[in-house]
Amino acid sequence: MSVNTTSFRDSVDRMFTHAAGLMSLAPGLEEKIRVCNSTYTVRFGVRLRGQIHTFTGYRSVHSEHMEPVKGGIRYSLDVNQDEVEALAALMTYKCALVEVPFGGSKGGLCIDPRAWNEDELERITRRFTYELSRRNLISPSQNVPAPDMGTGEREMAWMADAYKRLHPDDINAKACVTGKPRTAGGIDGRVEATGRGVQYALREFFRHDDVMKQAGLTGVLAGKRVIVQGLGNVGYHAAQFLSVEDKCLITGVIERDGAITNPQGINIDALRGHIRATGGVKGFIGGDYHENGLAMLEQECDILIPAAVESVIHADNAERINCKLIIEAANGPVTADADAILRRKGIVIIPDMYANAGGVTVSYFEWVKNLSQISLGRLERRHEEARARMIVEELERLSADTGLNWTLSKGFKEAFLTGADELELVRSGLDDTMRESFKKMKEVWISNPKVEDMRTAAYVVAIRRISNVYNSLGL
Ligand code: NAD
Repeated sequence: MSVNTTSFRDSVDRMFTHAAGLMSLAPGLEEKIRVCNSTYTVRFGVRLRGQIHTFTGYRSVHSEHMEPVKGGIRYSLDVNQDEVEALAALMTYKCALVEVPFGGSKGGLCIDPRAWNEDELERITRRFTYELSRRNLISPSQNVPAPDMGTGEREMAWMADAYKRLHPDDINAKACVTGKPRTAGGIDGRVEATGRGVQYALREFFRHDDVMKQAGLTGVLAGKRVIVQGLGNVGYHAAQFLSVEDKCLITGVIERDGAITNPQGINIDALRGHIRATGGVKGFIGGDYHENGLAMLEQECDILIPAAVESVIHADNAERINCKLIIEAANGPVTADADAILRRKGIVIIPDMYANAGGVTVSYFEWVKNLSQISLGRLERRHEEARARMIVEELERLSADTGLNWTLSKGFKEAFLTGADELELVRSGLDDTMRESFKKMKEVWISNPKVEDMRTAAYVVAIRRISNVYNSLGL
């Protein structure tokens, strides 16, 4: 009999309640922060393939303690009210934890995006946008969607364009969604942002010997064995950066149709190419194929990265999970029941609200860029380069005048004389966010004996910040 009975929202609420119970919040504030403010359900029809098809969509607003509220839009047949409300709550806590000035929201459309062609998806998306706009559930100042599972730059571009047509006099219209392509007002580095954030989170984790010890890990990231579930936007970028830049070995990739394993490390780009060409991992020649993909979650490794869907590690399989560290790239992959079992087993979990916050962090940069109507670095880049050139030329003059004949090391001059472009600035801002947020979580985790794990620490930091906002609002 399955004991995986905890719903996603119950899990999020239980984790929240546990953390809030360790704090002394003003009477009634715990309830105010926890509950979801509103969820809008819409059913709309679109005439396609000679008949009207009815679609169901949701947009949930969890907390408006800061506005706009922010959160992705998911396209999946599994989308339901419980799920969007759980995801919206996580957005509230995530934004507070990484200090982006948003409340939490989330949306979803019950649709299998693979069942419709591009023209049809565009019509459905534009119509959904119209429904959201009528209720201010998409707006640069009130509610700003972003991509999530099943959506990407293309859908965000359609939404931005549909909004602009409905609000031609809104000079900030582009800021109504983030995750747009660069040509439609997007920002460099948004597509990779969530996976990049996972990489930066792991790098930061490996800078702290004391937390590594808790997980029984030593040494550096290079050579660590990693299993990834879901090779979509988040999973692909995380796996690609970790294998190519940090020299981790991706020993397993789990997808919908099974898993590939290879103890020598999987070539992630090649596997992604294979998935694009064939629709799945089966038949990939760079590793062994296993039809029962889920069982591969239980294979031994150092780091497990669930990057697909929620509740994949639950009371039924948690006991068999055989890794040292789990980094939750997906939202809610570990249920509250499983969380307790894993903790008992000594497995450390880097929680979702921190681990996958790279997406909303770079979305924040994009939103700011749209409101300021100028790309990052445009004003200062050449000025920075000119000042760097002055230093280099002065060093060269001193070297010649004094007869010391110094030569700058190979590549230094070129690198030093190149001002940061938008992508470098975005990565720098993201890295800073991941490092600083980690330190805040760690501070609470290590200093408070009642806080047993990093997830509770993350909730404590987030709840404290949200309660400070409510207190200053005078509620
Ligand atoms: P995506 O649609 O790009 O990729 C999801 C991948 O998971 C796909 O390759 C899909 O085939 C695979 N998958 C789906 N169900 C699976 C299953 N049961 N077993 C194995 N593989 C499965 O989605 P994404 O944008 O990468 O999002 C993945 C997760 O990350 C979600 O939980 C999402 O909420 C979270 N997230 C995404 C972002 C973002 O910027 N895209 C930001 C924060 C959090």
